[in-house]
Amino acid sequence: MAYDPLDAQSDPFRPPAVATLVACLHCRQVYESYEIEWRIETNADDKPHGFWCCPHENCGGQGFGFDILPIDPEYRDERGGWMRSDDDEEGDYDDSAEPNGEAAPPVEKTDEANDDLP
Ligand SMILES: [Zn+2]
Repeated sequence: MAYDPLDAQSDPFRPPAVATLVACLHCRQVYESYEIEWRIETNADDKPHGFWCCPHENCGGQGFGFDILPIDPEYRDERGGWMRSDDDEEGDYDDSAEPNGEAAPPVEKTDEANDDLP
């Protein structure tokens, strides 16, 4: 099946079938994912292309899972998958492992560490 840039339901950034609360990275508004709007715009090649857009006027946020993210950190979509948060920071390697192969000592978990949690 060819990718159709005008087919809202084949867009990889379509909102989920089951609505969830989302936050827009651009305007910082929080709303239900069903409010995300499908808009047809013209891309750089002068071809129409649909985008799932933040419903707020003058906001350039586009794409569920791209600019518009679920506020629930445990969110999983209906397909059972979701972006892994560790993909967000490319190049930010785990520096707990020493380059010479020696593992860093394990971080001790104390009760104090829990104080920062809600
Ligand atoms: Zn927005």
